[in-house]
Amino acid sequence: MIPIRLDRVSKTYAALAAAEPTISADLTIRAGEFFTLLGPSGCGKSTLLRMVAGFIAPTSGSIWFGDREVTRLAPHKRGIGMVFQNYALFPHLSVAENVAYGLKMRRTAKDLRHAQVASALSMVGLDGLGDRSIDQLSGGQQQRVALARAVVIQPDLLLLDEPLSNLDAKLREETRTQIREVQERSGITTVYVTHDQAEAMAVSDRIAVLADGRAHQIDEPRLIYRRPATSFVARFIGRSNVLPVRVAAVGDDTASVSLSEDGPALTVPRSPAMTVAAGATAQLSVRPQALKLVAESEAQLHGEVKRVEYLGATVTATVDLGTTTVVVSAPERQTAPQPGERVGLAVDENDTWLIPQ
Ligand code: ADP
Ligand code: MG
Repeated sequence: MIPIRLDRVSKTYAALAAAEPTISADLTIRAGEFFTLLGPSGCGKSTLLRMVAGFIAPTSGSIWFGDREVTRLAPHKRGIGMVFQNYALFPHLSVAENVAYGLKMRRTAKDLRHAQVASALSMVGLDGLGDRSIDQLSGGQQQRVALARAVVIQPDLLLLDEPLSNLDAKLREETRTQIREVQERSGITTVYVTHDQAEAMAVSDRIAVLADGRAHQIDEPRLIYRRPATSFVARFIGRSNVLPVRVAAVGDDTASVSLSEDGPALTVPRSPAMTVAAGATAQLSVRPQALKLVAESEAQLHGEVKRVEYLGATVTATVDLGTTTVVVSAPERQTAPQPGERVGLAVDENDTWLIPQ
C-alpha cells in the first residue's frame, strides 16, 4: 500500500488554453484509501486520472507514488491496474485469458498464473466462468472481468474511470458494492472517477469534489454532505437550498444570521476556519429536510406550494417564499401539502451550514 501525491499538478490543453480553465490539483491520496474524483462532465476528472496513469503529461507539477517520482514515467512502469467505462476487454480471448494477460506480459510461471487468475475471478464472483468467451457475459460480468484483470497483477494503484456508466441502475448499485469489497479485501490504494454523487458517497473513504478544473473540497462523505465548503458542493451533493443571508453576529462555531431583511433570525453552524464578520453577507445551505411544514402560527417562513413530488419514503414540495423558492422534504406518512396551498415552514438549524459568499 502506497500513498499518491499530486504536487501542484496542472494541465492546460494547448489548443484550448484561451477558452478552457486549467485543470489543477494539489492533494495526497493515503495508502490503502478509496479516493474518488467527483464532479460534473468536463470538470477534469479523466484528465487528472490519466496524469496519474501516465497517459497525459502534466503541464506543471509532479506526481509521486510513495517516495518514487513518476511524473515522466511510462504508464506500464507505474504498477497500476486500470478499469475503463467501456471495459476494453479483448473480445477474441476467453475470460481467463483476458485476466491472465498482464501476468503473461510479466512472464509469470504458468501454474502461478492459473492460481492467480482463479483467485482474481473468485474475488469478483466469477468462479468457474474462466472458459466463457467475453460476448457470453452480461455488461456487469464484463466489468467484473475488467476489474479482475486490473487487480490480478497486484498493482500499487487501482484506477477506475466511470466504470459503471454503461450499466443500468440496479446493476450499478450491485457492482459498486462489489468494487468496494474487492478494494477492501485487496487493500490497494484506489482512485475512482464518477459524476454520480450517490455512487461517490456510497463507496469512498474520501472524495474530492471538482468543478471548473479545481477541487472545491476534499473530505470524507459525511463532511462533504454536512459541511459543504462552497455553494457548488452544497448543491451537487444531495439537494440543497442555498439562500443569501446577512450575518448579525459571529460565535466560535456558529453565527446569527437573518434570511432576508425582515426574515427570521437563526443561529447556524459554521466552520471556525471561515472568515466572516458581523454585517457581512454570506450563504446558507438549507437541506430540504431542515424545512418542516408547521402551523402558520409557529412558522418562521411563509409561502405557497407550487409543486409536489411523491418519491416513496419522502414527499418533496417546491414552495415559493416570494423572494425565492425552496424545496422542502417531508416524510411520506405526513399529510402531503397540495399545490396552491399556503404553508408555514420552520427551519431546523442542525441541517444548515454557513458558506462564504
Ligand atoms: P471529465 O472526465 O471530468 O468529464 P475531462 O478531463 O475529460 O473531464 O476534460 C476536462 C476538459 O478538458 C474538458 O473541457 C475537455 O473538453 C478538455 N479536454 C479533454 N481532453 C482534451 C484533449 N485531448 N484536448 C483538448 N481538450 C481536452
Ligand atoms: Mg471523464
